[in-house]
Amino acid sequence: MVKNLPVVPTAKAGSLVETPTGITWRIQYPVILETCNMCLDCTLFCPDGALVQQEGKIVLKVSLCKGCGICANECKENAIEMIPEYSGVKGVFR
Ligand code: SF4
Repeated sequence: MVKNLPVVPTAKAGSLVETPTGITWRIQYPVILETCNMCLDCTLFCPDGALVQQEGKIVLKVSLCKGCGICANECKENAIEMIPEYSGVKGVFR
């Protein structure tokens, strides 16, 4: 089955591996919910290549994710929830 997906700008594969930026930018991060139907649209829309398919699941490469929320916005199944990076006492890493 061939899917017609829009062409979107994205990082060249492997171009960000040595320069992870998500650690300093991110204030929220995506969590893939159980309702995910593995359409893989999020892996195409993520501008940083932070979402990849591994062993039948979508996996987040935390060091690459900037927390922009594009993946959650583009998910047609609403199967991605953005969670605050920090919780509880301000400044305490979860
Ligand atoms: S929040 Fe942004 S950078 Fe992080 S996985 Fe989603 S689209 Fe990629």
